[in-house]
Amino acid sequence: MGIFSSVRERFPGLCGEEDFSFARHTTIGCGGVAEAAFSPPSAESLAALIRFLEEEGIPYCFLGAGANVLPKEGRFEGAVIRFGGLSSLRREGDSLIAGAGVTGGRLLAFARENCLGGAEFLTGIPMTVGGAAVMNAGVREGHIGDLIEEAVGADRGKVCVFSARDCRFGEKTSIFQSGIAVISVRLKLAPASREENLARTAYFRKKRAHLPKGRSMGCVFVNPAGLSAGAVIEACGLKGLKLGGARISNAHGNFILNEGGSSDDADALIALIKRRVRERTGIVLREEIRRIP
Ligand SMILES: Cc1cc2nc3c(=O)[nH]c(=O)nc-3n(C[C@H](O)[C@H](O)[C@H](O)COP(=O)(O)OP(=O)(O)OC[C@H]3O[C@@H](n4cnc5c(N)ncnc54)[C@H](O)[C@@H]3O)c2cc1C
Repeated sequence: MGIFSSVRERFPGLCGEEDFSFARHTTIGCGGVAEAAFSPPSAESLAALIRFLEEEGIPYCFLGAGANVLPKEGRFEGAVIRFGGLSSLRREGDSLIAGAGVTGGRLLAFARENCLGGAEFLTGIPMTVGGAAVMNAGVREGHIGDLIEEAVGADRGKVCVFSARDCRFGEKTSIFQSGIAVISVRLKLAPASREENLARTAYFRKKRAHLPKGRSMGCVFVNPAGLSAGAVIEACGLKGLKLGGARISNAHGNFILNEGGSSDDADALIALIKRRVRERTGIVLREEIRRIP
């Protein structure tokens, strides 16, 4: 029996699809096809699904908005776990409790409607709350980890609460990169009038105007200490370089654009950038993007 059928036999009615295309569900727009994808409707059903997949030895991976991932080409004989079913959003005092599947746009609009502020630096970042927590998404002015008071996650099928300290937020990293599913987070915001909120939103939106348009994963590499990865790549004369259908953006050295190529093209370009940068500057670039599955 295939993965889709065996999961549906164990969890009748679980929302899912067969032959899930990574290209259609990621911002880079390339990658292969997974046997099946599922969107559990609750923390308990997510944990039960993970336990089942672990017991059956079925490989799985997590996917949010697909904005920071490079999916492999070929067929993935496994399951993709998605978070659209975990999209509750509510206020408690000055905090918001947001499910992993809540999008950045919805989170920020809800904060504004509730006269809360402090998360506007997330404006324009394509994200779900879960993916943002995993990646500690943000900009120079702030990162989502700065706001997270507590998170709920599923560690190999066991639901656990993580204090801010347990989350181990760092530069584009968190404890959740070790295969723990983020279920929800509690974000500490502060009272802010609608006008204040809108002004800060406009400020952050304007700052992003220069970012390259087109299919990308956002920044590919983490900035080396005290430096900009994009500037280092530019200084190595690599801006605009094209390999197959993957190009280093002319506008931003840390963006790779998919101009009709495959993940293998992007992969080869990433390897080339790392090699050239190491040879010319001695700097070892660390990837920010995550490979899936
Ligand atoms: C045009 C563009 C601009 C960008 N600008 C920025 C920026 O300014 N700052 C910034 O920080 N990032 C930026 N990014 C990168 C990206 O938007 C962020 O990293 C964002 O947080 C990714 O969220 P996501 O839901 O798309 O996660 P995904 O890309 O779907 O997933 C990221 C990782 O988290 C895992 N994952 C996803 N959801 C869960 C979950 N609930 N539980 C456990 N694991 C999960 C995935 O398996 C993967 O390893 C940009 C990307 C693009 C395309």
